Order: sequence, then structure tokens, then C-alpha cells
Amino acid sequence: MTLKQALTRAREILVANSIEDAPLECELLLRHILKISRVQLYLGLDQELSPEQEETSWRLIERRLSHEPTAYITEHREFYGLDFYVDSSVLIPRPETELLVEKAINLGQKHTVFTIADVGTGCGAIAITLALNLPRAKIYATDISALALKAAQINCQKHGVTNRICLLQGDMLGPLPEPVDLIIANLPYVRESELPPICSVNLEPPLALNGGSDGLEKIRQLCRQLSSKLRPKGCLLLEIGQGQRGTVTAFLCSLFPSAKIEVTPDLSGIERVVSLTLTAVNAGGFEAAKPFRLVFQQ
Ligand code: GLN
Repeated sequence: MTLKQALTRAREILVANSIEDAPLECELLLRHILKISRVQLYLGLDQELSPEQEETSWRLIERRLSHEPTAYITEHREFYGLDFYVDSSVLIPRPETELLVEKAINLGQKHTVFTIADVGTGCGAIAITLALNLPRAKIYATDISALALKAAQINCQKHGVTNRICLLQGDMLGPLPEPVDLIIANLPYVRESELPPICSVNLEPPLALNGGSDGLEKIRQLCRQLSSKLRPKGCLLLEIGQGQRGTVTAFLCSLFPSAKIEVTPDLSGIERVVSLTLTAVNAGGFEAAKPFRLVFQQ
């Protein structure tokens, strides 16, 4: 069987099983097996697959049919033009989160000294993209999950930023040793009742998706901690889900009545990023840094 025939067959199977983005997914799976780039794939369409390669490709297609995400099968996901290692201990980075990163880069470029905390970093995609685009920023990345921090550490090494990002294990802002200029977070915001059913073993970690009964429990928890960890004139950038704008902005407004709050829609028109900028006045008094557990100090 040639590569072209394998691609066509795989595509037909995925389409017949209602897998979204079948052409792209087949490409990624076959490129993963053959360890080739997209260009090499299309230049080598007439090449014959070995029996082992054929067998592996059907095995991977079967895994995909059982709803294991392609990113977990290939252990890769592209985000903001960069390649990240992912496994089932982390949320797979989504294209809409690039908007959050873009906002942070714009903000960071206006400052010479800039300290950032990426809360709930997962595979580290946000923190690492910021480190590469804001070469002078000092970055903390926290996560409650030690497994997620392992994935983040692999990605820090892959992108040569281990000395730029301080990975800390702990909940929310607890592990931060100092207040920062920017807090950026893609926290879990899916309503518990809307989580995918637990019957599949190939799900993304509920810890990274489950936002409690109204989806906003984690976001509220973070907002309540802000005053002690955000510097005067500091900024919060939060990713939110569809329909959450009103509740989140009202909550932030009740906590920080004189702060500037803005909401930006993503490319699909969904209000996706909430930004809050403190005035010098409403930044709270800084608490002394709480003891924290340093996991991967680089
Ligand atoms: N956007 C993700 C989804 O719809 C949710 C990500 C999150 O909870 N932070 O699955």
C-alpha cells in the first residue's frame, strides 16, 4: 500500500466514524508513524509503506476511533507555531488560547521589567510561548498536578527556557514567592454537568476542565487571591467559556470596583478573554509570601 492509499483509506474510516478534521488528523498520525514533515509527506505520496508501518497505522487509527485524542497518540500539539509535548496528564492546548497569549505579549512588550505568573500551566504552552516572545520577562508557572509539571518541564527543555521559567507546584497563587505584574490563566471552566462522560479512558484530565457546578469555581478562587499577588497597575488575563462573561466581570467588579475590565472575543466571536487592570489604588496590601513547595527550580 502506498502512503497516498493509506492516507485516503484512513481518511475514509475517520470520516465514516464522524471524527472531526479527518484529513488533518490522518496526516498527523501518518507523519507521526513515518517521522516526517508535512512537506516530506506530500513529496513521498507514492512511497510504499512497510508491513510494520501499515500495521502501526491501523493500530493508531483504531485508537483514534476509540476517541483517544490525536495529540495524545502522537504526544505532540502545535500552539502559537511551536511544538509541545503533551500527554494525558495535561489539557491539550486549544487555538483559542492563542488570543490570551497574544494579549499578554502585547502587554509585556510595553514594559522593560515584567514578571508573569501562568496559573495552572499544564504542559507549559502559555508560559513557554511568553518566555520565547518576551525575552526579558521573568516567569513563574504553577500547577497543582506534579504530572502536569513534568510535561511542562519536558517542554521547557525542548524550547531551551528552563532557566527562564520557574515551575512551582501548588494551588492557584499559593506557590508564588512574590507579587507579579501579570497573572495569566486558562483555568478549568467547564460546568461539572457538561464534562465528557467518564466512560472513556482517553479523556483529558477532569482536573484541567472541571470548573464546578457553574464552571466558575476555580476562576472565583483565583480572583479572590489576586489582591495579594498582583502588583499595583498589574493585570489579570483570564480565558473564559461561552456565556461566562457577565458573571466573571460582575464578580471582578465587586472585588475591584475601580479596576479597568475588558473582554475580547475570539475568532469565532465567543467572548474569550477577560482582562483586568488594577489602578495603583485598588491593589491590595501585599501579604508576606506564604511558604511554598518548589518543585523544579531551574
Ligand atoms: N476550551 C476547553 C473546552 O471547551 C476548556 C478549557 C478549560 O476549561 N480551560 O474543552
